[in-house]
Amino acid sequence: MKTDGYTRICGVMGNPVEHTMSPAIHNTLAESLGENLAYVPFRVPKGQVGEAVKGAYALNLLGMNVTVPYKSEVIPFLKEIDPLAKTIGAVNTLVRLEGGFKGYNTDMPGLYRAMCEDDVKIEGEEVLILGAGGVARAVAILAAQKGADQILILNRTPEKARIIAEEVNTLTGRRLASARELGAYASLPGKRYLAIQATNVGMFPKTEEAVIEEAAFYEKIHTGYDLIFNPAETRFMSLVKKSGGRAFNGLKMLLYQGIIAHELWTGAEVGPGLTEKAYGEMRRAMGLL
Ligand code: NAP
Repeated sequence: MKTDGYTRICGVMGNPVEHTMSPAIHNTLAESLGENLAYVPFRVPKGQVGEAVKGAYALNLLGMNVTVPYKSEVIPFLKEIDPLAKTIGAVNTLVRLEGGFKGYNTDMPGLYRAMCEDDVKIEGEEVLILGAGGVARAVAILAAQKGADQILILNRTPEKARIIAEEVNTLTGRRLASARELGAYASLPGKRYLAIQATNVGMFPKTEEAVIEEAAFYEKIHTGYDLIFNPAETRFMSLVKKSGGRAFNGLKMLLYQGIIAHELWTGAEVGPGLTEKAYGEMRRAMGLL
């Protein structure tokens, strides 16, 4: 990558950031699109998010991604916030405006684009969400907005799942979502769920774990979508497949959240050929190719 006096900078702020795959995505896109743009990681110390946003703006950065643990903490420091990001309560992309940054959430549109590409539909589905953290909450809102027939959130700490279910029901004005503890899967009827795995369980290096082990659970799942992308096949995915279901990982979600962010920063349109190339570079950076 060549840089000169005109090079624009984008980057990701988080803590830690050393594991990020985003430079592989954005630097591939920039190079292929002929943009004079470089993308770098910024580790931001705890308690300094406001300074980081202000500094990024003062240094004329074109845009930023925001990752764990700052996706909510960054919100008070924005000039504007996109309505979807506001509803979700999490921002992962900052776009430069006159006088400050506007915050977007491209994680959920990214997940939705990935699901569409994988031919996994939400509309009319009974959606089972495993986990009740920040991402699970966003997934519950996405499922509600995309026409899920029913949303069931299972979490180790059921109270957190209950809070999300109530939020979804308030947002939609109907009793769409409900919450239970993880073990409650046993009382679910039939094999008919789209399960979205939104816990950390099974993530590298603890790849031998799944949040639910029992085959009786996986028999109720027709499609399993694990948001984890490392390893490429999680234990959750292999258990879904073992019971005859389809299974996907979170790699394409990661790819598309990046592509949507890049399109917001530069106005470029990323076509299928370049999407494939960026996907390849990302997988190469992860040692999957
Ligand atoms: P988070 O807020 O920390 O939530 C973690 C969730 O996992 C909580 O529901 C927690 O349950 C549950 N959990 C953790 N350890 C558990 C255990 N041993 N047994 C049962 N449940 C356990 O995390 P997050 O930010 O929502 O992220 C969730 C996942 O999404 C992560 O795996 C992350 O890699 C993935 N992700 C993927 C992408 C992508 O682009 N593909 C983007 C963002 C995140 P409690 O509530 O009981 O603690």
